[in-house]
Amino acid sequence: MITDRINFLRDELNKLGYNYYVLDNPLVSDFEYDKLFAELKELEENHPELVTPDSPTQRVGGISSGFEEVKHKYRLYSLDNTYNYDELRKWYERVEKECGKGIKLVCELKIDGLAIALTYKDGTFVQGATRGNGIVGEEITQNLKTVKAIPLKLFEKADVEVRGEIYMPKTSFEKLNEENLEKGEKPFANPRNAAAGSLRQLDSTITAKRDLSMFTYTAIIENASTMPETHWDSLQYIKKLGFKTNPNIRLVNDINGAIDFCKEWETKRFDLDYATDGVVIKVNSFACQKELGFTSRAPKWATAFKFPPEEISTKLLGIETGVGKTGAVTPVAILEPVLLAGSTVSRASLHNFDEIKRLDVRVGDRVLIKKAAEIIPKVVKVVDTEEHEKLPEYIEPTECPVCHAPLEVREGEVNLYCTNEHCPAMVKARLEYWVSKDAMDIDFVGPSIIDQLYNLNLVKSPVDFYKLTIDDFLKLDLVKDKSANNMYNSIQLSKTRPLARFITALSIRLVGKETAELLVNEFNSLEAIINATTEELSNVDGIGDKIAKSVFEYFHTDANIQMINAFKEVGFIFENRQVEKTTELQGMTFVLTGTLNSMTRDEAGDKIKQRGGKVSSSVSKKTSYVVAGDNPGSKLDKAQNLGVIILNEEEFLKLLNISLR
Ligand SMILES: [Zn+2]
Repeated sequence: MITDRINFLRDELNKLGYNYYVLDNPLVSDFEYDKLFAELKELEENHPELVTPDSPTQRVGGISSGFEEVKHKYRLYSLDNTYNYDELRKWYERVEKECGKGIKLVCELKIDGLAIALTYKDGTFVQGATRGNGIVGEEITQNLKTVKAIPLKLFEKADVEVRGEIYMPKTSFEKLNEENLEKGEKPFANPRNAAAGSLRQLDSTITAKRDLSMFTYTAIIENASTMPETHWDSLQYIKKLGFKTNPNIRLVNDINGAIDFCKEWETKRFDLDYATDGVVIKVNSFACQKELGFTSRAPKWATAFKFPPEEISTKLLGIETGVGKTGAVTPVAILEPVLLAGSTVSRASLHNFDEIKRLDVRVGDRVLIKKAAEIIPKVVKVVDTEEHEKLPEYIEPTECPVCHAPLEVREGEVNLYCTNEHCPAMVKARLEYWVSKDAMDIDFVGPSIIDQLYNLNLVKSPVDFYKLTIDDFLKLDLVKDKSANNMYNSIQLSKTRPLARFITALSIRLVGKETAELLVNEFNSLEAIINATTEELSNVDGIGDKIAKSVFEYFHTDANIQMINAFKEVGFIFENRQVEKTTELQGMTFVLTGTLNSMTRDEAGDKIKQRGGKVSSSVSKKTSYVVAGDNPGSKLDKAQNLGVIILNEEEFLKLLNISLR
């Protein structure tokens, strides 16, 4: 039965997703997961009446016109904050006075994210809302469905309401900001803002692309097989239901245990990939919680210990400037080394020259530096001193610190740019980008190797990498046969990278990975992208005028075209993705079902269309062929009933005139 298969696939995908996104313990390869997912998607496409809102296929998102307000069934209270251990002890004294001695506590890290409330009926996710003012929030169910750590279906048919914190991992945050900068967009201030911005998208397909996760920390269980009597047990229970809880929680016997926990995490928190700003301490027993009750705004049975801000003052020894791959010149504060949040800091970010002006930072000042959710500390302000006024004001550079070419300001941008296309700093930064994971992904060739290759005049442009011989590598410091071979091979191997990676690697201004993919999908070949007008470029969904102009200018610069030709000479083949259209399958209609081994179903469809054939999603008497791969769906049964010719993969490839590898 189809419904049986659909249910099986959903359960299987739910289980696999749970292990991957909640337990961080993948059970199968992405490929196997995608295969099951594709099968479910096909079955649902053929039987739209069987699609349910909790199906794993419903995580893709869509457009909404706005967010409705919803009244929370249970109010989301705020917590009283404490900043020192004495206050924590006083709080515990009040707890003991009400409930007697020896009250156990649960300590949890306070995640610096966005509080949300999720409602489950009969084990199915039915509604998700922001905290709002605690009484009324905004309904963002569709967006929350794209967060894979949020179960759409629980392992049990329970009625529960849970609260949790949506967060963006620090590493994903930094990556997102890099991409935004590349696109000329404003970076997010911290991971919390990035998470909030991602969740409040009207187009939830954007939310789906962002790496968001959630820790669940409270459950109100209305109807379930187990009705826990303590907070600790309820956390263990919701974990079993399929929710992701933070692994760093601890049940302690008294306030001393809680204070130990706070002290421990004050420094350890910086090793985590998510931002925390304190510890939440809750009375474990629900009976005792009930006895304590609430004030008008907060529960008396819980309190939040806030970590002291990680700020410290130190002397600004100098302001260094660096040149990036786009030629942007950015300032970095050089500091008298100081211990901050468990590590010695001697450099801090100053963002750009406007920021220096705004803060009136002068070399010799005492400055306050802060390490918050961000990984790199930044200069927050100047500490008032008598010396400050006597120090000379910082003067913005007018020339490149490396090649001394004049700097320019570009319209609508805060950065200063080096105007010399051959600036050694910029060229080296581009070479480093060329080999990076996001671009051509070349192993064994790091910054120090690039530095040497550049200084020996062996590599001045990315195309030079491909002209290097093994002997060239042996000229470098400490490079022996084996590593010379490794470097040579991994460079040569990169010639076969997909076109989108090549375009990304070119470091065209405002063109990152995502834009490169948009270009390739639209134009299919490098030739077509080079020949596109600015209008054609800006007509592509997701590419604005600024990017279009930048791409056009890049490919209409002689030096760049010469470089592209040089890539062809060293063996790059920029194959067109689309083959010439032919007519051999004209008048034939194909239906594809199941998984093919040699290509995806989309590719198979493209190949049919290139030969003049048509692809349909449903089988009828008019269908010429049904191509059945592995695990075919119901279309195969239908084809058999109607007497339509069924091709297996081998027969299909033969028909396309493609030989089996
Ligand atoms: Zn320069």
